Amino acid sequence: MGEEAIANVLVFSVPIQGHINPLLQFSKRLISKNVTVTFLTTSSTHNNIIRRATAGGAAALPLSFVPLDDGFEEGHPSNDSSPEYFAKFEENVSRSLSQLISSMEPKPNAVVYDSCTPWILDVCRKYPGVAAASFFTQCSTVNAIYIHFLRGEFKEFQDDVILPAMPPLKGSDLPVFLYDNNLCRPLFELTCSQFKNVDDIDFFLVNSFDELEVEVLEWMKNQWPVKNIGPMIPSMYLDKRLAGDKDYGISLFNAQVNECLDWLDSKPPGSVIYVSFGSLAVLKDDQMIELAAGLKQTGHNFLWAVRETETKKLPNNYIEEIGERGLIVNWSPQLQVLAHKSTGCFMTHCGWNSTLEALSIGVALIGMPAYSDQPTNAKFIEDVWKVGVRVKADKDGFVTKEEIVRCAGEVMDETSEKGKETRKNALRLMEFAKEALAEGGNSDKNIVEFVAKIASWFW
Ligand code: UDP
Repeated sequence: MGEEAIANVLVFSVPIQGHINPLLQFSKRLISKNVTVTFLTTSSTHNNIIRRATAGGAAALPLSFVPLDDGFEEGHPSNDSSPEYFAKFEENVSRSLSQLISSMEPKPNAVVYDSCTPWILDVCRKYPGVAAASFFTQCSTVNAIYIHFLRGEFKEFQDDVILPAMPPLKGSDLPVFLYDNNLCRPLFELTCSQFKNVDDIDFFLVNSFDELEVEVLEWMKNQWPVKNIGPMIPSMYLDKRLAGDKDYGISLFNAQVNECLDWLDSKPPGSVIYVSFGSLAVLKDDQMIELAAGLKQTGHNFLWAVRETETKKLPNNYIEEIGERGLIVNWSPQLQVLAHKSTGCFMTHCGWNSTLEALSIGVALIGMPAYSDQPTNAKFIEDVWKVGVRVKADKDGFVTKEEIVRCAGEVMDETSEKGKETRKNALRLMEFAKEALAEGGNSDKNIVEFVAKIASWFW
């Protein structure tokens, strides 16, 4: 950094991989703009994060990690979605964050917090001069859909939905919570709670860039202090000249880095389907078996990240059967895999980080959404950005092996009209992503404006 810091910011993420990643990358961007950042972890994940951060070389990261007591033991599952967990988490984190801010002199200029913890606004308001910046880890379109829903503009389980600044949506394009009555109610309530105090927050930060969602971003900016600051992926993946830069990713899982990269090195360019369903998705047993059969039948090489807890669902002898054609790991270094020349496409659950990472690296997608905001992201992948296909599931959500073979054929064939169009669009978006974060690009400008505002903030 070199120069004297112009602002001091606390950054808080819930202990979930898909939230830690973009908030950590945002912290790095703030640091590059002369801001001092303290990354707040939860006591139940702090040691894990520190261990991995140090092992991954993040000791050199110019930010400090401070634990907030969340009231749970080390290793408590961070995917706990019981109302009791949420209540205890809120009570403890609110208290320990208040204690931390009380003890700080001078006070931080701002707290950047995960939108899933909207009650942090109340903590900020106890300290005049501390700005409250809510960071939304889903795309703006999904944020806008929830806002329209909460305003009563359409109902749960509605089949056709017409909303401003977005294409017509079928029920099955909506976030799952709005269309599936078989959902986890506490998670639905948590998701809706992100918007309960949006009229009062000082900044509404979104991990997106103008060209992806220009109309909906405009609609939102007319009503709230929205700043799109994405894509939050390490700059080395956007600009090859920064290859020597460090990724500093902090994974809650053990990535099998060398195994993945050595295997990819042994495959021809563009020949591999990378398959991953993120850090939380759970496939039904029969779906896992069908997917395994489908991937085998595509005839392509594939690298499949199957989390340890999911591996027992793989068919017997599967690893022997696929031989050199496939590699199964429990956790991949996803950005390095996407950026590898052997990767031809990405079969994804369409989590927002995975979607954005692929778009920003110019990789075509096969979307197999299941939960939360994933169907909406898949709809945009296929019909709006036209950077991939979405698998067609039957009425129970089951996807057959024939459908997997069809989608792989469409996206992996570089010579077909669809294959060519998809690749061209993916590369176009990659250029926009790069420009958005380059000096003076739309997201970079928003970050600079954010820093200037908090540096002279007085609430
Ligand atoms: N990820 C990874 N290795 C894997 C699977 C996922 O590094 O094997 C990372 C991925 O790069 C992304 C995050 O984990 O940043 C997953 O976030 P996403 O929003 O895509 O999905 P979620 O896990 O929240 O469902």
